[in-house]
Amino acid sequence: MPIGRLTITGKFAIFMVLIGVVPLLTAGIVAYQSAKQALVEGALKEQLHILSGYQDNLVLIQEQIESLIANISGVEAITNALRKPRREVTNYEQLATEVQVGYILNGYLNIKGLVSIHVFGEEGAHYQVGDTLDSRLRPVIRDQIRLGALGAREWVHWTGITENINEHSTRHHVLVAAKALFTIDRESLERRLIGTLAVNYSIDQLAQLFEKDQRPGRVFLIDQNGRYIYHPRREWIGRKVDEHLAAYLQGAGGHEGLGAEMGDLYLTHRHIERSGWILVSGIPAEALLSGVRVIRNATIGIFTLALIFVVLVALYFSRSVVSPIRYVTQSFKRLKAGASDVARLRVTGQDEISHLAQWFNQFLDELQRRRASESALRLSEERYELAAKATNEGIWDFNREQHSFYFSPRFREIIGYRPQKGPPSLGTFYRMIYPEDRPLMKRRFREFLRSGRNFINIEHRMNRPDGSFVYVSNNCQAIRDDSGRVVRMAGSIQDITLQKEIENRLRHDASHDPLTGLYNRNWMIKRINRELEETRQVPERLFAVLFLDLDDFKQLNDTLGHSYGDLLLIEVARRIEAQVRPGDAIARLGGDEFIMLLPDIKSGDALHVVRRLVECIAEPYTLYHHEYATHGSIGVAFSSTGYANAEELLRDADTAMYRAKTLGKGRYEIFDNEMRQRLLRSTTMERGLSKALDAEELEMHYQPIRSLSSGHTVGFEALVRWNDSQHMTSPAVFIPLAEESNLIHPLGHWIFRQVLAQLKAWDDAFDLPQDFKVAVNVSPRQFADRALVEWMLLQLGEYALPASRLAIELTETAIFQDRIAVLSALTRLRDSGISIHLDDFGTGYSSLSYLGSFPISAIKIDRSFISAMRPGGRHERMVGSLITMARELDILVIAEGVEQARQFEYLRRKGCDFAQGFHIGRPEPAVRATGLLLGEFDADRLIGPEM
Ligand code: C2E
Ligand code: CA
Ligand code: CA
Repeated sequence: MPIGRLTITGKFAIFMVLIGVVPLLTAGIVAYQSAKQALVEGALKEQLHILSGYQDNLVLIQEQIESLIANISGVEAITNALRKPRREVTNYEQLATEVQVGYILNGYLNIKGLVSIHVFGEEGAHYQVGDTLDSRLRPVIRDQIRLGALGAREWVHWTGITENINEHSTRHHVLVAAKALFTIDRESLERRLIGTLAVNYSIDQLAQLFEKDQRPGRVFLIDQNGRYIYHPRREWIGRKVDEHLAAYLQGAGGHEGLGAEMGDLYLTHRHIERSGWILVSGIPAEALLSGVRVIRNATIGIFTLALIFVVLVALYFSRSVVSPIRYVTQSFKRLKAGASDVARLRVTGQDEISHLAQWFNQFLDELQRRRASESALRLSEERYELAAKATNEGIWDFNREQHSFYFSPRFREIIGYRPQKGPPSLGTFYRMIYPEDRPLMKRRFREFLRSGRNFINIEHRMNRPDGSFVYVSNNCQAIRDDSGRVVRMAGSIQDITLQKEIENRLRHDASHDPLTGLYNRNWMIKRINRELEETRQVPERLFAVLFLDLDDFKQLNDTLGHSYGDLLLIEVARRIEAQVRPGDAIARLGGDEFIMLLPDIKSGDALHVVRRLVECIAEPYTLYHHEYATHGSIGVAFSSTGYANAEELLRDADTAMYRAKTLGKGRYEIFDNEMRQRLLRSTTMERGLSKALDAEELEMHYQPIRSLSSGHTVGFEALVRWNDSQHMTSPAVFIPLAEESNLIHPLGHWIFRQVLAQLKAWDDAFDLPQDFKVAVNVSPRQFADRALVEWMLLQLGEYALPASRLAIELTETAIFQDRIAVLSALTRLRDSGISIHLDDFGTGYSSLSYLGSFPISAIKIDRSFISAMRPGGRHERMVGSLITMARELDILVIAEGVEQARQFEYLRRKGCDFAQGFHIGRPEPAVRATGLLLGEFDADRLIGPEM
C-alpha cells in the first residue's frame, strides 16, 4: 500500500517504528553477530587442539607397530626361511622351520591391540601368530596387502580399515601395517622380494583411544579410502563416509583446517601424514551457539516491548486526534446518503480538534432546518410519483416551454434507463428510440402536432442498454394553449414486446417450414408470382426456379426412421443455403422437395449454381453417427419460357426434375421447349392409351422360349402390342408413359387377365409338360399397389391354374427402387409357386452377389450381351462365366435376343438353360403361338379365346 493511502494512525505508527525500533533492532543484530563469530572461532581452535592430542597418540601407536615390524624383518631366521625355494625343503625341515618362526613371532605379540602377525613367503610359505589358530586365508586380501606393501611410499604401508586376512577370526576388520621383505643375493648383489610381513591391529583398541574423552563434539578417524576407522557409533566403523563429508574432505587440503560448516556441524580436521588418514572433529552448532542465544533473546524481548509501546502511543493518538476527524468525514458521507440521525460531537478543551467539533455541530443544526422545509415540498411530488407507480405503464412528461422531461420510475424500468448528466432533454428522449423507428416517430409526431388532435397512439421500439429493444405502445396526450399551440405533452408507454413476439412468430410460422426453417410452399408461390409480375414490367430480367428432389429419400425414412429423414432434410437445407446468393429464396414443399428461386440471373450463372448444388448434396452425410450418401435431382425452369403463374413454372421445373431422375441419379435437366413438346405428346398419348384400353386396340403377343438341352418350347414371354388406328406404338414407348400416369394399373390388370385366359386355354387344350410356363412383364410401379400380389393369386385361383404355369419378369432396377416392398411381394409370389425372372440382366447393377438374397428363379441375360458376342471375345467369355456362376447359385439362365445360329450353338455348348429370340421365334399373336404348340405337343381339345 503506498504511504499516501495510509491513515494518520498508520503513518504515525510507521514513524515511531522508524525512529525507535529500527536502531534498537540493528544494535541487537550486530551484537549477536559479533558474539557469535567470536564464540565459533574460539571453539574451533579448541577442537583443533584436541585433534592434535589425538594425532599424537595415534602416531605413537603407529610408531610402536612400525618398530615391531623393523625388528621382525631383521630376524635372520625368518628371512632364511623365506629365501629357500620350497621344493628344496623336506617335510621335516618345513615343520622345523614353522616351529622356529612361530616361536620367534610369538615373542613380539605382547603389544596391546595387536591382533595377529603374518609372514607370507613369495614361494607360498605362511607363518602366523596371534588371533585364532584355526586360520583360513583370504587370498584376495593377501594379494592386496602384498601389492600395497610393494607400492608403499613410506617405509611401512598402512592399509586403512581392511577385512581380516583370516576368514575365521572374530575380528572382522583390522588395521594392517605391512612391509615387503627383500634379500640381497650374495653373489649378484641383486635385491630380491622374498615375502611380506603384515601386522593386524585391532580397531577396537583404537576406538578406546577416542572414547576415553568426554568433551563435546564428535571425532571421526577416516582412512585413505574414505572409510571410518573410528566413528562414535560403532556400527558405522568400516562404512564409507557420507557424500557431504566426502565432499568436505575432498576440499580439505593442508595439514589442518577449521570452521567449515556441514549441516548443523562445525568441522575441523587434521591429516596424519604417514598413513594418509584424516582426523575430523565436528561440534553441533547447537552446542556452540548456546552462549549467544541469551543475546538474541534479549534483543527480541526489547524489540517486542518497543513495538507494544509504539502501538499504545499510536492508539492514544488515534483516540484523541484521529477519531473526531474520522467521525466528521463519515458523518458527511452519511449525510450525503440521506441520513438524518447524525449525532453531535462532544466538545472538550480548546484545541484545534475542539474547534472542529464546534463547527461541525453548527453545520448539523443548519442542515436540519433546511431539510425540514424541503421535505414538505417533496411530499407533493411523491404523490404524483405514487400515482404513476400504481399503473403498470411508464409515464413521461414533456414541458415544451422549459424543454425538460420527466420519466416515471416504471418508465425507466421498462427501457432500463440509466440517468445521464444533467436533466433529460428532447434529444435524450429521441435517442431512446430504436434507430430504425426514429424516422417514423419523427414523421408521426410532426403530423400530430400539426393536426390539432390531442391524442395519438404509436407502436415503436425503444433501446435497452444491453443493445436489445423493447416494443412499446405509446399513448401521447397533447395540451394546447388558446392558440392551439402544444405547450406540454405527456404520455404513457406499455411494454408489448411479448405480444409483438407472438405476432411475429405467427406471421413467421405462416410462411415457413417448421422443420428446416425455410420458406413454405405458400410463401414461395406468392414470391414467384411477384417475380413474374416484375418480369412483365422489365422483360429482360430473367429468373430461374429450381426444383430439387432427393433420391431414395423414402427408402431412408423406411429403413432408418423418420428422425434420420428429418436430420437429412435439415442438413440439405443448410447446404442449399450455403450455396445460394443473399437475394435468392429457398422453400421446402414438403417431403424431400425443395424449391429455389434465383432472381435476376443469367442462365449460365444459374446452371453454375445448379451444378454446385448437385455436388454439395452428393457430399456424404453423418446422421447420428451413420454415414449416409445420397443425391439430389434438379429440374430447372427459366422465366424466359413465358409463364402466366407460379404453378405453371413449378410444374415445368418438376417435369424437368422427373426427367433428370429417370436419366440417373444426381443429375439436373433444364425444362425446354422440346420437353414441353414431349410432355404434350405424352399427354396426348396417355389419353390415347386410355382410350385404347377401352377400345381394345391392345393385343398380347407371345414369343417362344426354347430349352437348349431338349430343343422343346418350354413357354412364352407375353408382350403387349398397341395397334393404334394410324400406326403401331412400341411398348418401349408407351409402357414408360403408362408408368408415369396411373394407367399402368388398369393396363397391368388387363394384360395379366389376358395372359391367364390364354394360358388356361392352352393348358386345357394341350398336354403341356410340367414346367411349361408363360412369363408376364410387370412394371415396378405396379407394386405401388400393395394389393397387387393378392389380386394376382386370386386371379390364378379364378382361372384354376397352377401357380407353376406363371412367371413374372422384373428388371433389376425395379427391384432396387423400392427394395423392401418389392422384396416382400416377390417372396410372397415365389412362395406360392410363381417363378421370378430377372429381366435385362447385366444392364443394371450387374452383380451376381446380391442374387442370393432375392427369391429369383431365373435371370434373363440382356440382348445387348448376346448380340455383342464374338467368337473368343470379351462378351462371349462374360456370358460363359455368367452361366457358370448362375448355375452355382441354382438359378436358371435364359438368353434373350438370340438372333443367330452361332449364338444359339455357343449358348447350348456352354450349358445355358433356355434361349429366346428371333432365331427361335418372333413375338406373334396367340393364334400363331397356338400353331407352334400344335406342332410340338399332343392336343386334347382345341378351344380357347384366340381359336
Ligand atoms: P423386354 O421385357 O426385355 O422384352 C423383350 C423385348 O425384346 C421385346 O420387345 C421383344 O420383341 C424384343 N426381342 C425379343 N427377341 C428379340 C431378338 O432376337 N432381337 C431383337 N432385336 N429384339 C428381340 P418389345 O415387345 O418391343 O418390348 C419392349 C419392352 O417393353 C419389354 O422389354 C418390356 O420391358 C416392355 N413390355 C412389353 N410388354 C409388356 C407388358 O405386357 N407389360 C409390361 N409391364 N411391360 C412390357
Ligand atoms: Ca421381359
Ligand atoms: Ca428383356
